[in-house]
Amino acid sequence: MPGLATPLIDWYRDAARDLPWRREGFGAWGTLVSEFMLQQTPVNRVIPHLEAWLTRWPTPADLATSPPGDAVTQWANLGYPRRALWLHRAAVEIRDRHDGVVPRDVDALLALTGIGDYTARAVAVFAYGDRHPVVDTNTRRVLARAVEGRAQPGPPHRRDLERMDAELPADVAEAAVVNAAAMELGAIVCTARAPRCEACPLAAQCAWRAAGYPPSEDRRRKQATYEGSDRQARGAVLKTLRDAAPEAVPLFAVLPDWPDAAQRDRAIDSLVADGLAEAADEQLRLPGHPAS
Ligand code: SF4
Repeated sequence: MPGLATPLIDWYRDAARDLPWRREGFGAWGTLVSEFMLQQTPVNRVIPHLEAWLTRWPTPADLATSPPGDAVTQWANLGYPRRALWLHRAAVEIRDRHDGVVPRDVDALLALTGIGDYTARAVAVFAYGDRHPVVDTNTRRVLARAVEGRAQPGPPHRRDLERMDAELPADVAEAAVVNAAAMELGAIVCTARAPRCEACPLAAQCAWRAAGYPPSEDRRRKQATYEGSDRQARGAVLKTLRDAAPEAVPLFAVLPDWPDAAQRDRAIDSLVADGLAEAADEQLRLPGHPAS
């Protein structure tokens, strides 16, 4: 099996999208913020929020001095707002432990709130130019198909890092390009539902294609629908708090017409438990704003 590196590098040179975090001098803080935002939100929704975020908080220390509730407000409708709180905590840690400079060392990055295997290595590779395997969902799918002949990857596993590492050239700069190219290929060509094999630089060597596209054995449950879900209720409560911030909202005025009162109460309790909201004196507010 020929390696993936050369065809990926050649393809990426022409096909890579022009995205803000790929531009020269974007910086480690910008890379870190973008990776937090991209964890569960599509690129086109992230870009305007990312620019606004970095304009407001151009350094970790700038964010660290704002109340965490401001981060939740600025996060707006990006979804999974715990990421805003984690990013705020990470900014405080970077200010307090690393003199305000995003660390370069993978273990130091992993020690920050909200940062896992993917984000730590993405920052070390894309912001600092070091050589590590960077493996996201898209990369895992490309490896599963092109190398292993399977339609979908299994659950994430540490082996994924070893598999990707085996594909990286020794040259540090080329290794970074292969990491980026594998992710890009999975995002725009080897997509989950409709891979465009005719446009794929790995078509000639793809094991899944050569095997005649055997179907996936992965029968994991599809993601639950959003409409009517607890997640929707949490989002609606948070929107109420964001709209009122920095003022608190009386508990009786939080979603008084929500169709399922027990679900609304559950949403409020879980937001408080997660630190995304604070309850006191029969009022609810975003965290970090002084009581009025
Ligand atoms: S040939 Fe098709 S299935 Fe194989 S890696 Fe390329 S796009 Fe994915």
